Amino acid sequence: MRKKIVAGNWKMNTLPTEGASLAKEIVEKFDTKDVDLIIAPPFTHIGAISKVLINSQVKLSAQNMAKEDFGAFTGEISGEMLKSLDVEYVIIGHSERRSYYEETNSILFAKIRKALSVGLIPIYCVGENLEERESGNYFNVIKNQLEDGVFGLSKEDFSKLVIAYEPVWAIGTGRTASPVQAQEVHAFIRKMVGDKYELSTSENLSILYGGSCKPSNAKELFSKEDIDGGLIGGAALNANDFVEIAKSF
Ligand code: PEP
Repeated sequence: MRKKIVAGNWKMNTLPTEGASLAKEIVEKFDTKDVDLIIAPPFTHIGAISKVLINSQVKLSAQNMAKEDFGAFTGEISGEMLKSLDVEYVIIGHSERRSYYEETNSILFAKIRKALSVGLIPIYCVGENLEERESGNYFNVIKNQLEDGVFGLSKEDFSKLVIAYEPVWAIGTGRTASPVQAQEVHAFIRKMVGDKYELSTSENLSILYGGSCKPSNAKELFSKEDIDGGLIGGAALNANDFVEIAKSF
């Protein structure tokens, strides 16, 4: 059976002390069984939050990482550094990284391979922008993001991944993909994975929806057959909302 996952991407929000308090509140409030709850704070918070999460059910993710190991890469953070702080997951290919920092599918593929090599679980984000949605080209965009970003992995490596479908037009806009729109793309992703690898690989893959997901719409989204949880932005900064979303299965 595939995992139900709710992951919170804090982006560049909160000061370290505020982040530690938020993490503590989430730990205290979260008591849902059978759901993996993950938080992805900024790099500067990870050391302190890692301590807050000891002996808790809440898992730690980074929002990004370098594709290199160590060395002269000013401003970068390596997978090994994250791993040494008990980080388990890393978000790779968020649309903000793709668009503001020009991270291409091939750069993302290199990051994913590096993450896997140090034992981090990548949460690989795919999704189309508004123009691609309106022109009806979104299946092609997602197909390319899968083919160039992750389909070079062996079946064994691929089976460790989590995928997040995040239509760019729904991120931080308050405009959510309808459950039917989201399910259509999730089913497409699962079918592509089944065709590329094996049916069991696709059946065991957790595919998260991201884009203005909140307590009021999470239940309907998560009730869809191929939606296994959410990658949450804005609503992840409020402990009550975030924990409530995790109760929406
Ligand atoms: C995100 O950035 O991954 C996201 C889904 O943001 P929001 O929930 O705020 O739309």
